[in-house]
Amino acid sequence: MTLKLYDTYTRSLRDFEPIETGKAGLYCCGPTVYNYAHIGNLRTYVFEDVLRRTLEINGFEVRHVVNITDVGHLVSDADDGEDKMAAGARRTGKTAWEIAEIYTEAFLEDLQHLNVLSPTVLCKATDHIAEQIEGIQQIEAKGLAYTTSDGIYFDTAKDPDYGYLARLDREGLQAGARVDQGEKRSVTDFALWKFSPADEQRQMEWDSPWGKGFPGWHIECSAMAAKYLGPLFDIHCGGKDHIPIHHSNEIAQSQACYGTRLSNYWMHGYFLQTDKSKMSKSSGEFLRMQSLIDRQYDPMAYRFLCLLAHYRSDITFSWDNLDSAATALGRMRETYLSWDTNGEPDAGFVERFMAFINDDLNTSQAIALSWELIKSGLPSGVKRATMDRFDQVFGLQLAQWQPPAQEELPKEVVALAKQRQQARADKDWAAADAARDELAALGYEVVDTADGFELKQR
Ligand code: AMP
Ligand code: ZN
Repeated sequence: MTLKLYDTYTRSLRDFEPIETGKAGLYCCGPTVYNYAHIGNLRTYVFEDVLRRTLEINGFEVRHVVNITDVGHLVSDADDGEDKMAAGARRTGKTAWEIAEIYTEAFLEDLQHLNVLSPTVLCKATDHIAEQIEGIQQIEAKGLAYTTSDGIYFDTAKDPDYGYLARLDREGLQAGARVDQGEKRSVTDFALWKFSPADEQRQMEWDSPWGKGFPGWHIECSAMAAKYLGPLFDIHCGGKDHIPIHHSNEIAQSQACYGTRLSNYWMHGYFLQTDKSKMSKSSGEFLRMQSLIDRQYDPMAYRFLCLLAHYRSDITFSWDNLDSAATALGRMRETYLSWDTNGEPDAGFVERFMAFINDDLNTSQAIALSWELIKSGLPSGVKRATMDRFDQVFGLQLAQWQPPAQEELPKEVVALAKQRQQARADKDWAAADAARDELAALGYEVVDTADGFELKQR
């Protein structure tokens, strides 16, 4: 069965044809580790994980490379302002190196919570300064770079294809450019190397042929992707915000260095937003994985929520949506647990599942198909084996799930609830209310049921 993927570069659905038979090289832009990842960022990693699992279920051996941006990403994607790492260091009172370590660890924990498979290679920008310098030298040698008082810049006017990925209106952009584009020749030019200020010792800086400084953000991805996957590989991913700047710049650099557009397919995940505005780390307040866990949500409920939408449509986050996803996942888990374990997958359902997932990762249809499977008259062992197959792509860990152990209720709580039940039977409403209040004070809610009562911890 053919796997169709939407390629932003050609703006079309294309049959996936790997460069090397049976293999797939996949590069995903990783986090800028100056803060925790927010759940919007995590949606992008879930999308990329579903893509990887889809490639794998189709029999491709995936080499999955993810970078860690621990230097060079400036506060504005257009290369203005401070390095985000320096801003993070100032915010926390820690060094840039310390925060890189802390937030990289936190990011990896988030991925584990969401059952995102570990990349084959996880590479840090700061471990690849030499490769980046070499890339900049190649760009310079082609006459595509120029020097300003604060760094070395890519001269986008000299690249006729610049911005094709984003279908950038270069003339329009230039005409509307702010007067303060500084010494940049064109508004779309971007930094390859930034000089350390003469009067300042930066926490992160390196020697280079151009003096002390640090690499621009975009060169790290071109350099590391080419190092670990070659100068032309199969699929490059990121969030859709990367189309007009970061990925356009990666392509320009790779064109200059290797004469390739770096990747055969360019895929982009749409955003998770709140109340119509995008969630962003720089806005200060944002939800992260731990915010959901603190509110007693299972991280898998968030993964389930992501699967409910196509990766090329935005999701508006709300607690109600997350509640619905958690309830649906709970139902799926309990049903799964009730099934027998002795069956083989149903060929018809598996084929329909593959058709959805191979149609540009249509996870929402695939989830709908799961409900159809649940309701079907197939033997439960067959349902279970079929669902196991689906879960290779969903990654919901259905087979690992255990219902939470019922905690033993404290004796005094049960005694109080019984006292209340007796008071109600005696129509002593004051005593019944008093017992309910006492239970509430102990953190329990009592709910009357047909055959007695149920206690819920609040
Ligand atoms: P960053 O750590 O900011 O470099 O972003 C990490 C990844 O998250 C990138 O692929 C971004 O494109 C993506 N991203 C950023 N904001 C969002 C959002 N609100 N929803 C989905 N993905 C996002
Ligand atoms: Zn990147």
